[in-house]
Amino acid sequence: MRLTVIGSTALDTIETPFGKKEEILGGSATYSSLSASFFVPVNLISVVGTDFPKRYINMFDKRNIDTAGLEVKKGRTFRWAARYNYDLGYAETLKTELNVFDGFRPHIPSSVNAKDNLLLANIDPELQSFIFHQIKPAGLVACDTMNLWIEHSRKALLKLLKKVDIFLLNDAEARQLSGEKNLMEAARFIASKGAKMTIIKKGEHGALFFAKGLRFMVPAYLLETINDPTGAGDTFAGGMLGYLSKSKKINDGVLRRALVYGSIMASFAVERFSADGLLKTKPSDIKKRYEHFEKLTKF
Ligand code: AMP
Repeated sequence: MRLTVIGSTALDTIETPFGKKEEILGGSATYSSLSASFFVPVNLISVVGTDFPKRYINMFDKRNIDTAGLEVKKGRTFRWAARYNYDLGYAETLKTELNVFDGFRPHIPSSVNAKDNLLLANIDPELQSFIFHQIKPAGLVACDTMNLWIEHSRKALLKLLKKVDIFLLNDAEARQLSGEKNLMEAARFIASKGAKMTIIKKGEHGALFFAKGLRFMVPAYLLETINDPTGAGDTFAGGMLGYLSKSKKINDGVLRRALVYGSIMASFAVERFSADGLLKTKPSDIKKRYEHFEKLTKF
């Protein structure tokens, strides 16, 4: 099965305690697509401006990512600037420029099949919802979000939750959305709004999975080096959905392993700035980390 990914394709300016990089490749759809493409072919739906380097589009094309749905629109690419301090779990947004995303309503290419699974990576919930209604997906629907949209588009996000099978967000966002301090209470609140499965990401402390009949915890992979946590959540979502799309059926074991793959893929993303960590990764590296992960968590 293929996976359709929608979300932002961006030029990021990122400052961490380990360096600063300007106008580097970023965006929720970029990280999610690259991560998922290790497991299944991806259809990317997004928009960039005419200033977006062509070499990145060529790179997607070479990597199992169909860019028929990546529109190049006159104007400037989406830009995001953020700073992290030693608490790498929290990004301080310095600037969000929607640019070509402002009012963007994509044309869905014929290569996108409603039967494929759909990952609505982080972007305006109004746009996520528009695309959902265009595609009328029959497969699994996963959705990610962030603090900006919880604050400014709460109504649209809650409406979308009714249609979502898997909802992903981080711990601070889960508390912000639910008004609950306890994460189990937050997950209960999210389930009451319609999401069938909820994944609460906790940065270097791993992730929690909640569904009727299954609760599961996965640690983050133990790393020697972290340079840039940007995109960890999107990469996690892409790896998880990629693995689920590759699996013939979904059961508890598959869901557990999908979370482990999400965690492992995120570990590659944070080792380097931008998507460089993912671009350097080989399938054999994923296998190695999976085996090591098993050893690290067995008791
Ligand atoms: P993450 O670190 O997983 O939260 O995702 C970081 C990526 O999300 C960056 O590469 C940004 O370009 C992108 N991003 C930041 N803010 C937004 C936003 N408001 N809408 C869509 N994408 C965003």
